[in-house]
Amino acid sequence: MRPNDIQQIGDELAIKWDDGTETFIRLESLRRHCPCAGCKGEVDVMGNLYKNPDKPLTPAAFQIRKIGMIGGYAIQPTWADGHSSGLFSFDYLKRIAETPA
Ligand SMILES: [Zn+2]
Repeated sequence: MRPNDIQQIGDELAIKWDDGTETFIRLESLRRHCPCAGCKGEVDVMGNLYKNPDKPLTPAAFQIRKIGMIGGYAIQPTWADGHSSGLFSFDYLKRIAETPA
């Protein structure tokens, strides 16, 4: 399934899929689920998790400046605080939408 249209509406991301369904994700929830190594942490071969110390996210962290499309399988949002290394696959977006906040 692929998005026909992705729009920011208020504080939510609205995704219209090619089967006619729609998904709404709060921007704050989206950012908190950022899958990049810096946000999620990286596990080394010994199984140790390395993570940036939790720094408080500013309100700008929950605003999207622009959204890029990656190879027809993911989106890459650029957040207003400059963060842009997280790639959200379409499957992952659906899972976030189904996760209770
Ligand atoms: Zn991130």
